[in-house]
Amino acid sequence: MASSRKQRPLRDLLRVKPGSKVDAAKLDPGETYGYRKDDVAPKLAADLERLAALQERLWAEHKRRLLIVLQGMDASGKDGTIKHVMTGLHPLGCRVIGFGVPSAEELAHDYLWRVHQVVPGDGEIAIFNRSHYEDVLVVRVHDLVPKSRWSKRYDQINAFEQTLADEGTTILKFFLDISPDEQLERFKERYDDPTKRWKFKTGDLEERKRWDDYMAAYSEALGRCSTEAAPWYAIPSDRKWFRNLAIAEIVADELERLDPRYPAREDLPKDLVIE
Ligand code: AMP
Ligand code: MG
Repeated sequence: MASSRKQRPLRDLLRVKPGSKVDAAKLDPGETYGYRKDDVAPKLAADLERLAALQERLWAEHKRRLLIVLQGMDASGKDGTIKHVMTGLHPLGCRVIGFGVPSAEELAHDYLWRVHQVVPGDGEIAIFNRSHYEDVLVVRVHDLVPKSRWSKRYDQINAFEQTLADEGTTILKFFLDISPDEQLERFKERYDDPTKRWKFKTGDLEERKRWDDYMAAYSEALGRCSTEAAPWYAIPSDRKWFRNLAIAEIVADELERLDPRYPAREDLPKDLVIE
């Protein structure tokens, strides 16, 4: 598509409809909705500019908060998204939080404890690289807690996210959907490239064997936890350029909808002048 002007907003195309049943294994990770790699650079640049300008207003306004959740299989592009989409953001007012294997202290608390501490404050954008969803993904796939515990978490997560939303946080959740073939390609690339090897862990190959279990877990997380207050977006991510394009547009559109405003000028007392 040469011009994307008349294209339907990607947020409408990629949003997981609340209450819908999802089969993550059946989504097409290679879909590009008519966009072509060679044509999209100007649109991406424009959206990144829009994003940067709106973030400055969000920070200046200092009233509302934005939480971005990135989830996906290994090598699905969570780090890449942060690098390519969030680069234009001003470090003031923007934080990236990675969630790895919980520490002993974190494990000694409920699973939302470590999450709640780092949600965005007024004016901030917080980007979660993995999130509380790991507690219904890796935890479920590996039976790290009994089913009787993890199965209650979908409702708990919805309630938690609703609370954040009611208190002024906008939430956008992105599932970066890649195919097993693309993952393998990226693993090989990581392994062969000395500058990328650090990202590859032998354990990643073990996880890969559980692909179907992960897709079942993602299906349930996306289906049950895409809500009006905190929608999931399923982002076809085999093509990095499309992934970046989609996320940049959706985040910029959401900020535009919020329409953050620079605070009004304070009236100076009559006897004070700036000179
Ligand atoms: P990476 O994103 O490559 O740095 O890896 C982080 C690792 O931490 C992944 O293998 C996740 O599955 C794991 N992880 C994140 N959250 C949890 C959790 N709540 N319980 C167990 N493992 C987790
Ligand atoms: Mg990894």
